[in-house]
Amino acid sequence: MPTYNPSFITQQYLHTANSPFLDKVVFTIDHLHEGGPGIYSTFDVVKHLVSKQIPVTIFIQCSDPLNFCPAEKRIAQSIYDLDHNLVSLGAHALTRGNSQANQSNNLDKIKDVIADITGAEPQIMSYHGSNAGPENGISYAGITYARGITSVWSDASADNPLNTPVMNINSVNAAYDFIQQRNAANLSATLFVHSVELTSGSVKKLTFDTIVADVIGRRLQAMSYLSAMQTDYTGAPPTPGPTQPIDPPPGTPCPLRHFANSKITQYLRVNKRDGVNGVFQVAELQRFLNELGLGAGTADGIFGSNTKLAVISYQIIKGLGPDGIVGANTRASINAYCD
Ligand SMILES: [Zn+2]
Repeated sequence: MPTYNPSFITQQYLHTANSPFLDKVVFTIDHLHEGGPGIYSTFDVVKHLVSKQIPVTIFIQCSDPLNFCPAEKRIAQSIYDLDHNLVSLGAHALTRGNSQANQSNNLDKIKDVIADITGAEPQIMSYHGSNAGPENGISYAGITYARGITSVWSDASADNPLNTPVMNINSVNAAYDFIQQRNAANLSATLFVHSVELTSGSVKKLTFDTIVADVIGRRLQAMSYLSAMQTDYTGAPPTPGPTQPIDPPPGTPCPLRHFANSKITQYLRVNKRDGVNGVFQVAELQRFLNELGLGAGTADGIFGSNTKLAVISYQIIKGLGPDGIVGANTRASINAYCD
């Protein structure tokens, strides 16, 4: 099973200085995908988000309704079992133009799949395509939030004024402009992507990974799609986020306190004893990042993708260049806790 490998981040988000709360983002994934060589499955991507305590909603399709959607049921079960609190399952409508009978039959099958897995029928579904949105005359029984997922920010759809616009993730700047515009209007910003679109080196993956790093580094707040719908469209007050990004406070333990007078050095490397300090530095670095809640994973001394992403989040917090490399400036910042 491939492990999700985050990109090197090339830009960083500057949180609106005067905003009382962190800007809110919502992660949604379209369709269940098996993945393949070099292609992340939906399971891989959700596992990555869940490991960072990020809520995510997956809109699931049904490719074989006559047999009760066996492929999707198997994948959806494995994804839901990653974390029942963070993973939400929603339904995916048939394409625009299908009859009410076809849409209802599709929705009934998906509802059964989700109810079998979670014990409850879904409250949310997506409907998208060109001119996305639930069409006039089509209803989705039992679904509280049947929103069209649209590709541009427009709340004036002819069919349904309550469609959910999603951010353009073909550009990091465009995505963050969208987040700021939406949040300035007291609305959440929805990221909507197919897991197979997050290919290595793609701009979509870079944008996705940048937003994830900012959530971990507390420059953004992730909220669930259902919560977003409830607050965006019912006028309920938004869930307050942390008012301040985290910054390791004075008194945070020195990362290398297990060894007297030790600091992170340029000899940081995998499972190597530094000849000067005699320290397994990567493991110490991982413990430090974990104590800050940055999710470096098991302190195993191996500088893998989770450790890299935690370093990126630390760099974002500290206003350092977020490249995931523990260079001179990052070392100095960490070692300052040991002075
Ligand atoms: Zn879709």
